[in-house]
Amino acid sequence: MQCLRLGRITDKKRGAYFWGLVLAIPVLVLIWSFLPEQGFIHWLYPVFIILCLNWAWRLSRKASLSRIELEVVSFTAAFFTIKLGFYLFWGDLQQNWVEIESTYWVMAFVMILLYIVLDVRRGLIYSLALVGVTLSLGLLRLGGEVALGRNHDEFLAFVRSEMRLFAMAGLLYALAIVKDQLADAHRQVLQMHTLARTDPLTGLPNRLALSEYLEGEAHRAHGLYVVLLDLDHFKQINDRYGHTVGDGVLKEVGRRLRFSLRKGDMLGRWGGEEFMIVMRGESQHDVMAAVERLREDIAFWPFDQVGAVSASFGVAEGHIGDSIHNLLERADKALYQAKHLGRNRVELGPV
Ligand code: GH3
Ligand code: MG
Ligand code: MG
Repeated sequence: MQCLRLGRITDKKRGAYFWGLVLAIPVLVLIWSFLPEQGFIHWLYPVFIILCLNWAWRLSRKASLSRIELEVVSFTAAFFTIKLGFYLFWGDLQQNWVEIESTYWVMAFVMILLYIVLDVRRGLIYSLALVGVTLSLGLLRLGGEVALGRNHDEFLAFVRSEMRLFAMAGLLYALAIVKDQLADAHRQVLQMHTLARTDPLTGLPNRLALSEYLEGEAHRAHGLYVVLLDLDHFKQINDRYGHTVGDGVLKEVGRRLRFSLRKGDMLGRWGGEEFMIVMRGESQHDVMAAVERLREDIAFWPFDQVGAVSASFGVAEGHIGDSIHNLLERADKALYQAKHLGRNRVELGPV
């Protein structure tokens, strides 16, 4: 179940990335055509657009998601670091400042991407590295200028931007930790939920899981069949061979039933040496034949150490407007009847 859930999350992520890139590509083309950048930066855009096309194509071909994620953040971070460096060192600082300031804002966005894609620890390392690189570039360029008594305003703006970036790294780190803790708590709740509904001996759904399932099916009781089965003379098996061997028999019965049932049939341990099957059937005749086969699966093949084991089955068919309580009562009556008539047989409950 958890695997399915993870698979669905990965598919959703893949879809979100794909459409994000599909939207980003025309935006990048528009920026490139209408807002030409200076120098070689202008020619980094087509490279970036081709990379985006490549990522989108690979996403649609189900290529490794984590690899694409890492490539996207690495190239995006590298692209904007190069851009920042270029505008810091090329031309007039004052004239370039709007570009520099906007690149700082994009850096904040890159940082969010880092935390989305990487785990908390690597997110922190990469984002601090980003702060370190931008800080070094800025100090290298502006430090000298300020020493010469120039670009004082730009220096203050640079310090503000760096502080903002640094604060953001910290804030995102804290948020990522909280997110991880919530995800852990959610995982634990899921585990507890599964544990509370699983019989530890057979690994099958337990009485609670069966009851919940039945409640869920209650609104469409028509065509629903409840099968209760109880092992015959099980006490004797325990008495003669011991409780551990008895446990082994219960496990084997669970295995045989699971093996013989269809995928959509619900099988669980109702309690003690009683099992329950909830199934939908086309006709009463088909269901009775299927249950008869289950009886044979248990009775026909001898069990390790104990030899022949059999079970009695009670079947109840649901009707429109039936309550689960009634259905269970009828299955129980049918089981009682099967025991009464000599055991190792299948009986259909009263309508
Ligand atoms: P009947 O044919 O009438 O069903 O006879 P029975 O001996 O099976 O019926 P009864 O209900 O009297 O006995 C059920 C036994 O199942 C009693 C109990 O000790 C045993 N049992 C219940 N749960 C477990 C379990 O988890 N492991 C083992 N080994 N035995 C169990
Ligand atoms: Mg019993
Ligand atoms: Mg019994």
